[in-house]
Amino acid sequence: MAHRTPIESGAPDNKPFLHPKLLANYGNWKYHDRPRPGVLHHVAHSGDEVWTVRAGTQRQMDVHTVRKLCDIADRWAEGHVRFTIRSNIEFMVSEEAKVAPLVQALQQAGFPVGGTGNSVSSIAHTQGWLHCDIPGTDASGAVKALMDELYHEFIHEEMPNRVRLSTSCCEINCGGQADIAIVMQHTKPPMINHDLVANVCERPAVVARCPVAAIRPALVNGKPSLEVDETKCICCGACYPPCPPMQINHPEHSKFAIWVGGKNSNARGKPTFMKMVAAGLPN
Ligand code: SF4
Ligand code: SF4
Repeated sequence: MAHRTPIESGAPDNKPFLHPKLLANYGNWKYHDRPRPGVLHHVAHSGDEVWTVRAGTQRQMDVHTVRKLCDIADRWAEGHVRFTIRSNIEFMVSEEAKVAPLVQALQQAGFPVGGTGNSVSSIAHTQGWLHCDIPGTDASGAVKALMDELYHEFIHEEMPNRVRLSTSCCEINCGGQADIAIVMQHTKPPMINHDLVANVCERPAVVARCPVAAIRPALVNGKPSLEVDETKCICCGACYPPCPPMQINHPEHSKFAIWVGGKNSNARGKPTFMKMVAAGLPN
């Protein structure tokens, strides 16, 4: 067999897609300021200037919204956009005179301009029911409800400091850290419907799914079933998707918890880990 070279292409190179002014001044910026909430102004050592207008979007986006945003980019923003990790979209322009019409076009299309400086920026959230099989709540629904309340704080910079929030729909929490994180938390181990396990579940798959090896095969009332070592179980809910008889979602015992002080690492800083400050809030 011919030698096959493994290909690890990783994330694609973003340079061909950058706004020309960003490409020309890549890594060579002198300073930036914020002329108004939602607008960043970068000045390069070359003397080039770029204004970036940031708007909030929903994270799970239909094709019509994507087209609408791209049309705004083509008409008002020199044809380039980029998304931030917090589901904001940014439009870059090379002339200050283009900022006000771009802001107006975004606002008229229903996209709030803000999320910079000492604002509450868009909430980073996990996949929720659309893409993951574990959720105990729909993280994006919690985000919608919160951002409706925090709209004023998104479009103004009136907080004492930057405020970055996240929501996660299970405690395994693929969503990472934030200044304030709202995390779904089951508080009781699953109750097992033994009558259904043998008919519905691939028991080895359920056993393998548990991150703390708390599930064992067992015979219950003469039928093959499962048992959970409740001293090990961390109530994560991961066993429910491969085996719905592992019933863990509960109107009283599935709650929200608030964690604070977390931060993902980035090029400039190390991560900090969150601490729980409140638990048992209604889901
Ligand atoms: S937080 Fe948990 S349930 Fe939500 S998407 Fe991530 S892994 Fe899935
Ligand atoms: S809830 Fe999580 S920790 Fe508990 S048994 Fe199920 S998979 Fe294991």
